Amino acid sequence: MPGFELWGKEEKQHVNDVLETGILMRYGFDAPRKGIWKSKELEKAITETFGCQYAQLTSSGTAALTTAMAALGIGAGDEVIMPAFTFVASFEAVLSVGAIPVLVDVDETLTLHPEAVKKAITPKTTCIMPVHMCGSMANLDALQAICNEHNLLLLEDACQSIGATYKGKHLGTIGNAGTFSFDFVKTITCAEGGAVLTNNKDVYIKCDGFTDHGHDHIGTDRGAELHPFLGYNFRISELHAAVGLAQIKKLATFLSIQRKNHAALKNILQQVPEISFREIPDPNGDSCTFLSWFLPSENITKSFVEEMKTQGILAGNFYWYANNWHYIKQWQHLKEVKSLYNLNAEQKIALQTLQTQDFSVSDAIMSRCISTAIGLLWTDEQIQDKGNKMVDAVKKALASNK
Ligand SMILES: *Cc1c(COP(=O)(O)O)cnc(C)c1O
Repeated sequence: MPGFELWGKEEKQHVNDVLETGILMRYGFDAPRKGIWKSKELEKAITETFGCQYAQLTSSGTAALTTAMAALGIGAGDEVIMPAFTFVASFEAVLSVGAIPVLVDVDETLTLHPEAVKKAITPKTTCIMPVHMCGSMANLDALQAICNEHNLLLLEDACQSIGATYKGKHLGTIGNAGTFSFDFVKTITCAEGGAVLTNNKDVYIKCDGFTDHGHDHIGTDRGAELHPFLGYNFRISELHAAVGLAQIKKLATFLSIQRKNHAALKNILQQVPEISFREIPDPNGDSCTFLSWFLPSENITKSFVEEMKTQGILAGNFYWYANNWHYIKQWQHLKEVKSLYNLNAEQKIALQTLQTQDFSVSDAIMSRCISTAIGLLWTDEQIQDKGNKMVDAVKKALASNK
């Protein structure tokens, strides 16, 4: 799954280009940088690779989400509808702009349940934020239709689904804006980094300024640049962008390996009739970073996890239901509003209501779900061996829950 598995001489070459000049910052220093502009080059490569008009690099995927929300004008009093299965960064970003995260159920796509979204819409709703978890996608046609009907923004958190497509378009390029993360375990990495993708020039210009203290980036004298609005420092460094530039050129290779290994593993698991698979709205567009699958009950799934643990082979198989990063069930800090600083009153009330909100629809799905991360370095023999061991553990779990 992660691009770091195929780290190599290309990354070192791009980093060395920057180390030669010593200009580690993405803006300014035009003469001493000797034509080396890794961040600008990576932004261009992102627009070309993913087919969008504009890309703004950021220091992380979380910063990209915050930037996208700011540029879309999402702030205090606005409700953002997002799934209960995601990464903590998704709600962190909503809170950071003063807005209200409204968490709703997922369906067997493992992302937003369109019916749950409809039910959650209020006069304060301004944005729907699907999170394309584990390499695959939300039902974007259904969500776009809801956005159109209620005049809402669509912001795609595509941090985990770089290279995946929906009906021929890359995830992250379909909504009003989309975000990628290039953190260390994502499909392509910069070590740390992220990007906002958009086809809207106004949104892009706002992202460009917001990530650099509101600078308008007009002219050649940084000190004389104007600040048309407030911003922060969410800049990426040239060293990070250099790594990303090498990685983005390897993306096609990563995806083809993932697709091959994913198919081989699925082929083995498929032989067990009790195993079913995640619903994929556009199967051709799956980036195949994970194979996500279901067992018939929570107890059987727990027995499978225990069996894999006992054998010491659980690594790479994620049971999100019990995981502290990805599912509402374990987010005590969120539900108990453990903020270091005072959140606004509406945010506090919304978070407290999460304590009693019914997530039984999501529970029934997540408690039976395992996501198996697809390795880039697996040999055919290793896949066969891995698959056989998983099948044996599933059979044991099924037998012990008869
Ligand atoms: C990784 C991730 C992010 C945030 O990325 P960072 O670069 O780690 O800040 C946001 N959303 C999702 C779904 C992610 O997986």
